[in-house]
Amino acid sequence: MFEKILIANRGEIALRIQRACRELGIRTVAIHSTADAEAKYVKLADESVCIGPAPSAQSYLNIPAVISAAEVTDAEAIHPGYGFLSENADFAERVEQSGFVFIGPRPETIRLMGDKVSAKEMMRKSGVPCVPGSDGALGEEPVENLRIARSIGYPVIIKAAAGGGGRGMRIVHTEATLLGAISLTRAEANAAFGSNQVYMEKFLEHPRHIEIQVLADAHGNTVFLGERDCSMQRRHQKVIEEAPAPGLPVKLRDRIGERCATACRKIGYRGAGTFEFLYENNEFYFIEMNTRVQVEHPVSEMITGIDIVQEQIRIAAGEKLGYSQKQIQFRGHAIECRINAEDPYTFMPSPGRITQYHTPGGPGIRVDSHVYQNYLVPPNYDSMVGKLISYGNTREQAIARMRTALSEMVIEGIRTNIPLHQELMNDPNFVLGGTGIHYLEEKLKR
Ligand code: ADP
Repeated sequence: MFEKILIANRGEIALRIQRACRELGIRTVAIHSTADAEAKYVKLADESVCIGPAPSAQSYLNIPAVISAAEVTDAEAIHPGYGFLSENADFAERVEQSGFVFIGPRPETIRLMGDKVSAKEMMRKSGVPCVPGSDGALGEEPVENLRIARSIGYPVIIKAAAGGGGRGMRIVHTEATLLGAISLTRAEANAAFGSNQVYMEKFLEHPRHIEIQVLADAHGNTVFLGERDCSMQRRHQKVIEEAPAPGLPVKLRDRIGERCATACRKIGYRGAGTFEFLYENNEFYFIEMNTRVQVEHPVSEMITGIDIVQEQIRIAAGEKLGYSQKQIQFRGHAIECRINAEDPYTFMPSPGRITQYHTPGGPGIRVDSHVYQNYLVPPNYDSMVGKLISYGNTREQAIARMRTALSEMVIEGIRTNIPLHQELMNDPNFVLGGTGIHYLEEKLKR
């Protein structure tokens, strides 16, 4: 096992990784920008290194600065968390070339999955069902592109191969607007992602977002840790996640989970990963794979009892998974509310000093957050200040506990989306379960 790990991230996930390391007896190095110098997790780490000024490009995204910090502190491995450099294949490569262990998949795997066209092709070959669409990137031939769209059937969606963060997508409802939409998406993709490759998919009108968590060790053992339903979204950003997905037949879950675990074996995947699917009319359609730990990983931890971050570290250290698929049991129900520093109605970010802070507790309640009374939420980064997770024997119990926890949670001095979560926990359709990815935006419009 490693003796020292550098955590190349900030906020709640930096603290989450630090806790995992502590439990495993591993020393930690926190890196931080000047804006995060006072953060509690920085003080709690065994060592810390300031790697640059507040803007991410000069600190958390600065590859040479991160590698130098690992060199001066003599860390053995680097955990990238999520966001920032976590899915940057060049970073993973540089980490390994500099003699450190990257806690994640091989750089080639990250590169393959980072290109959505190659990822889809790989998945199709590995037996994972994909959204019907073009075979690979679209060419320049208008007649051919019109033919492809006609054979898929409208509406279709044009997506950038290198896209991410919900950007670089355009829905096309009629043939008359297809060619214009392809050119526009190409131009945008080129400007935003430096690649003009685009592809076409059937646009699914009322899907749910259901994803499968996998773990794969370096010895060919792979398992899936069930599914998460992340359909409650605003602007393609997840707001609430839960496990298991309400009403999803166990047989269907197991079948798609097995396919994902098999695909991991076929592509030689290593580490934790997530297969994201759209789910409509009892069918799963692969959209992309995330080659890192996800914000919503706690709900899977709650229903399986497996610490996903510790597993990432063990796998990177070369250990074998200590259990088979049969030994993984799914118990109870877990829900996660992302607590953001933002106005609950306008969604304007609301950074600033937290003047009062009280966290909820009681059976089945978990708070993953780095903030505290007097903490200054910097304006430079993502607005998420923490995650409130509830667990119950049933979904009803998890919802009831979440309602109580939300009513106990006090964050003053900044605005948060807690009132929105309170409303959603009492929304009859959410309580029923199984709402689609457009539900929240439609509700907000009303
Ligand atoms: P990103 O990497 O930018 O997150 P994804 O491919 O994961 O892009 O898609 C993000 C979101 O866009 C999905 O969660 C879904 O809401 C919507 N989306 C993507 N592809 C389709 C599709 N074929 N049909 C309907 N909605 C889609």
